[in-house]
Amino acid sequence: MSNFYENENSNATSNILDPKSKYKRWMKFILRRSKEVGKVELPISAVILDNKGRCIGRGSNRRNKNSDPLGHAELIALKQASLIKNDWRFNDCVIITNLEPCTMCSSSLIQARMGKVVYGASDKKRGGLGGSINLSIHKSSHHKMEVIGGILEKECELDIKLWFKNLRNQKTVNLPNSVSKRFNNLLTLSSLELKPINPIRHTLPDNSPNPLPISIPYFLRR
Ligand SMILES: [Zn+2]
Repeated sequence: MSNFYENENSNATSNILDPKSKYKRWMKFILRRSKEVGKVELPISAVILDNKGRCIGRGSNRRNKNSDPLGHAELIALKQASLIKNDWRFNDCVIITNLEPCTMCSSSLIQARMGKVVYGASDKKRGGLGGSINLSIHKSSHHKMEVIGGILEKECELDIKLWFKNLRNQKTVNLPNSVSKRFNNLLTLSSLELKPINPIRHTLPDNSPNPLPISIPYFLRR
Protein backbone atom coordinates (compact mmCIF):
# COMPACT_ATOMS: atom_id res chain seq x y z
CA MET A 1 0.00 0.00 0.00
CA SER A 2 2.89 2.36 0.65
CA ASN A 3 3.22 3.09 -3.06
CA PHE A 4 -0.32 4.44 -3.06
CA TYR A 5 0.84 7.33 -0.96
CA GLU A 6 3.39 8.62 -3.39
CA ASN A 7 3.58 12.33 -3.64
CA GLU A 8 2.76 13.90 -7.00
CA ASN A 9 6.38 15.09 -7.11
CA SER A 10 7.88 11.77 -6.04
CA ASN A 11 11.14 10.79 -7.72
CA ALA A 12 10.35 7.08 -7.59
CA THR A 13 11.93 5.25 -10.52
CA SER A 14 8.61 3.79 -11.64
CA ASN A 15 7.21 7.31 -11.97
CA ILE A 16 10.09 8.44 -14.16
CA LEU A 17 9.60 5.44 -16.44
CA ASP A 18 5.85 5.77 -16.50
CA PRO A 19 4.28 8.84 -14.89
CA LYS A 20 0.90 7.13 -15.04
CA SER A 21 2.04 4.11 -13.02
CA LYS A 22 0.60 5.39 -9.75
CA TYR A 23 -2.76 5.87 -11.40
CA LYS A 24 -2.59 2.32 -12.75
CA ARG A 25 -2.07 1.00 -9.23
CA TRP A 26 -5.05 2.94 -7.98
CA MET A 27 -7.07 1.82 -10.97
CA LYS A 28 -6.44 -1.83 -10.07
CA PHE A 29 -7.73 -1.08 -6.57
CA ILE A 30 -10.77 0.68 -8.06
CA LEU A 31 -11.51 -2.25 -10.38
CA ARG A 32 -11.47 -4.63 -7.40
CA ARG A 33 -13.87 -2.40 -5.48
CA SER A 34 -16.20 -1.88 -8.42
CA LYS A 35 -16.49 -5.66 -8.88
CA GLU A 36 -17.88 -5.89 -5.34
CA VAL A 37 -20.82 -3.61 -6.23
CA GLY A 38 -21.19 -5.09 -9.70
CA LYS A 39 -23.83 -7.62 -8.68
CA VAL A 40 -26.56 -5.01 -8.32
CA GLU A 41 -24.95 -1.85 -9.60
CA LEU A 42 -23.03 -0.73 -12.65
CA PRO A 43 -19.47 -1.48 -11.47
CA ILE A 44 -18.05 2.01 -11.00
CA SER A 45 -15.84 3.21 -8.15
CA ALA A 46 -13.82 6.33 -7.48
CA VAL A 47 -11.13 7.57 -5.13
CA ILE A 48 -9.97 11.10 -4.36
CA LEU A 49 -6.33 11.75 -3.47
CA ASP A 50 -5.08 14.86 -1.71
CA ASN A 51 -1.88 16.75 -2.57
CA LYS A 52 0.18 14.22 -0.59
CA GLY A 53 -1.30 11.32 -2.56
CA ARG A 54 -3.43 10.13 0.36
CA CYS A 55 -6.89 8.76 -0.28
CA ILE A 56 -9.37 11.14 1.38
CA GLY A 57 -12.54 9.89 -0.27
CA ARG A 58 -13.85 6.84 -2.00
CA GLY A 59 -17.18 5.78 -3.36
CA SER A 60 -18.89 3.12 -5.38
CA ASN A 61 -22.03 3.35 -7.42
CA ARG A 62 -25.04 2.94 -5.06
CA ARG A 63 -27.88 4.16 -7.21
CA ASN A 64 -29.94 0.97 -6.98
CA LYS A 65 -28.99 0.07 -3.45
CA ASN A 66 -29.96 3.49 -2.08
CA SER A 67 -32.65 4.29 -4.67
CA ASP A 68 -30.69 7.48 -5.15
CA PRO A 69 -30.33 9.17 -8.54
CA LEU A 70 -27.33 11.02 -7.09
CA GLY A 71 -25.67 7.81 -5.89
CA HIS A 72 -22.80 7.96 -8.39
CA ALA A 73 -19.36 6.85 -7.21
CA GLU A 74 -17.76 10.25 -7.87
CA LEU A 75 -20.38 12.18 -5.88
CA ILE A 76 -20.15 9.79 -2.93
CA ALA A 77 -16.35 10.10 -2.92
CA LEU A 78 -16.65 13.89 -3.23
CA LYS A 79 -18.98 14.11 -0.21
CA GLN A 80 -16.68 11.96 1.91
CA ALA A 81 -13.58 13.90 0.87
CA SER A 82 -15.19 17.27 1.57
CA LEU A 83 -15.96 16.12 5.11
CA ILE A 84 -12.37 14.98 5.65
CA LYS A 85 -10.89 18.02 3.94
CA ASN A 86 -13.40 20.34 5.57
CA ASP A 87 -13.48 22.28 2.33
CA TRP A 88 -15.50 22.23 -0.89
CA ARG A 89 -12.50 23.18 -3.06
CA PHE A 90 -10.33 20.43 -4.51
CA ASN A 91 -7.82 22.37 -6.64
CA ASP A 92 -4.90 20.31 -5.28
CA CYS A 93 -6.65 16.95 -5.51
CA VAL A 94 -7.11 14.23 -8.09
CA ILE A 95 -10.09 11.97 -8.61
CA ILE A 96 -9.59 8.55 -10.22
CA THR A 97 -12.45 6.46 -11.58
CA ASN A 98 -12.80 3.50 -13.92
CA LEU A 99 -15.38 5.14 -16.23
CA GLU A 100 -15.40 8.66 -17.62
CA PRO A 101 -17.62 10.76 -15.33
CA CYS A 102 -21.13 11.43 -16.62
CA THR A 103 -22.31 14.98 -17.29
CA MET A 104 -23.77 15.29 -13.77
CA CYS A 105 -20.53 14.19 -12.10
CA SER A 106 -18.34 16.21 -14.49
CA SER A 107 -20.32 19.35 -13.62
CA SER A 108 -20.00 18.55 -9.92
CA LEU A 109 -16.24 18.10 -10.28
CA ILE A 110 -16.02 21.48 -12.01
CA GLN A 111 -18.09 23.02 -9.21
CA ALA A 112 -15.73 21.38 -6.70
CA ARG A 113 -12.71 22.88 -8.53
CA MET A 114 -11.16 19.42 -8.90
CA GLY A 115 -7.51 19.71 -9.91
CA LYS A 116 -7.21 16.57 -12.01
CA VAL A 117 -9.57 13.87 -13.25
CA VAL A 118 -8.16 10.47 -14.19
CA TYR A 119 -10.39 7.80 -15.70
CA GLY A 120 -10.15 4.44 -17.43
CA ALA A 121 -12.77 3.81 -20.10
CA SER A 122 -14.44 6.53 -22.15
CA ASP A 123 -18.22 6.80 -22.16
CA LYS A 124 -19.30 7.82 -25.62
CA LYS A 125 -22.97 8.05 -24.65
CA ARG A 126 -22.93 9.90 -21.35
CA GLY A 127 -19.35 11.00 -20.76
CA GLY A 128 -19.01 14.61 -19.70
CA LEU A 129 -15.28 14.99 -20.30
CA GLY A 130 -14.99 14.29 -24.00
CA GLY A 131 -17.06 11.13 -24.57
CA SER A 132 -20.27 12.91 -25.54
CA ILE A 133 -19.47 16.49 -24.50
CA ASN A 134 -16.40 18.01 -22.91
CA LEU A 135 -17.62 20.16 -20.05
CA SER A 136 -14.07 20.79 -18.83
CA ILE A 137 -13.44 23.08 -21.82
CA HIS A 138 -17.02 24.23 -22.32
CA LYS A 139 -17.59 27.99 -22.24
CA SER A 140 -19.88 27.52 -19.22
CA SER A 141 -16.99 26.05 -17.25
CA HIS A 142 -15.41 28.57 -14.91
CA HIS A 143 -12.76 26.05 -13.84
CA LYS A 144 -10.42 24.14 -16.13
CA MET A 145 -9.44 20.70 -14.92
CA GLU A 146 -6.62 18.54 -16.15
CA VAL A 147 -8.16 15.39 -17.59
CA ILE A 148 -6.30 12.13 -18.20
CA GLY A 149 -8.23 9.25 -19.74
CA GLY A 150 -7.32 5.74 -20.86
CA ILE A 151 -5.67 4.38 -17.69
CA LEU A 152 -6.03 0.58 -17.92
CA GLU A 153 -8.68 1.34 -20.52
CA LYS A 154 -9.13 -2.20 -21.84
CA GLU A 155 -9.62 -3.74 -18.38
CA CYS A 156 -12.08 -0.99 -17.42
CA GLU A 157 -14.03 -1.36 -20.66
CA LEU A 158 -14.15 -5.13 -20.38
CA ASP A 159 -15.61 -5.06 -16.85
CA ILE A 160 -18.42 -2.75 -17.89
CA LYS A 161 -19.13 -4.64 -21.13
CA LEU A 162 -19.31 -7.92 -19.19
CA TRP A 163 -21.68 -6.36 -16.69
CA PHE A 164 -24.06 -5.23 -19.44
CA LYS A 165 -23.76 -8.62 -21.14
CA ASN A 166 -24.72 -10.38 -17.88
CA LEU A 167 -27.59 -7.96 -17.40
CA ARG A 168 -28.95 -8.74 -20.85
CA ASN A 169 -28.67 -12.46 -20.16
CA GLN A 170 -30.61 -12.15 -16.93
CA LYS A 171 -34.38 -11.98 -17.07
CA THR A 172 -34.49 -9.98 -13.86
CA VAL A 173 -31.88 -7.96 -12.04
CA ASN A 174 -30.88 -9.39 -8.68
CA LEU A 175 -32.03 -6.50 -6.57
CA PRO A 176 -31.27 -6.60 -2.85
CA ASN A 177 -34.25 -7.51 -0.63
CA SER A 178 -34.82 -3.95 0.54
CA VAL A 179 -35.08 -2.75 -3.05
CA SER A 180 -37.40 -5.60 -4.13
CA LYS A 181 -39.64 -4.80 -1.18
CA ARG A 182 -39.91 -1.17 -2.24
CA PHE A 183 -40.47 -2.24 -5.82
CA ASN A 184 -43.37 -4.45 -4.71
CA ASN A 185 -44.84 -1.53 -2.78
CA LEU A 186 -44.68 0.52 -5.96
CA LEU A 187 -46.64 -2.15 -7.79
CA THR A 188 -49.28 -2.03 -5.08
CA LEU A 189 -49.47 1.73 -5.40
CA SER A 190 -49.79 1.61 -9.17
CA SER A 191 -52.71 -0.79 -8.83
CA LEU A 192 -54.62 1.81 -6.82
CA GLU A 193 -57.20 3.74 -8.71
CA LEU A 194 -56.44 7.31 -9.58
CA LYS A 195 -59.87 8.82 -9.87
CA PRO A 196 -60.51 12.43 -10.87
CA ILE A 197 -62.90 14.27 -8.61
CA ASN A 198 -64.38 17.73 -8.74
CA PRO A 199 -61.69 20.17 -7.84
CA ILE A 200 -61.96 21.31 -4.24
CA ARG A 201 -61.40 25.01 -4.27
CA HIS A 202 -59.86 26.67 -1.29
CA THR A 203 -59.98 30.41 -1.23
CA LEU A 204 -58.54 32.87 1.14
CA PRO A 205 -61.00 34.93 3.24
CA ASP A 206 -63.05 37.52 1.33
CA ASN A 207 -61.09 40.36 2.83
CA SER A 208 -57.85 38.94 1.45
CA PRO A 209 -56.31 41.35 -1.05
CA ASN A 210 -55.59 38.69 -3.65
CA PRO A 211 -57.46 35.43 -3.17
CA LEU A 212 -55.70 32.61 -5.02
CA PRO A 213 -57.71 29.45 -5.57
CA ILE A 214 -55.86 26.21 -4.99
CA SER A 215 -57.35 23.22 -6.74
CA ILE A 216 -56.74 19.59 -5.89
CA PRO A 217 -57.83 17.73 -9.02
CA TYR A 218 -56.87 14.19 -8.02
CA PHE A 219 -56.53 12.07 -4.99
CA LEU A 220 -55.63 8.48 -4.29
CA ARG A 221 -58.55 6.23 -3.43
CA ARG A 222 -58.38 2.59 -2.57
ZN1 LIG B 1 -22.01 10.27 -12.71
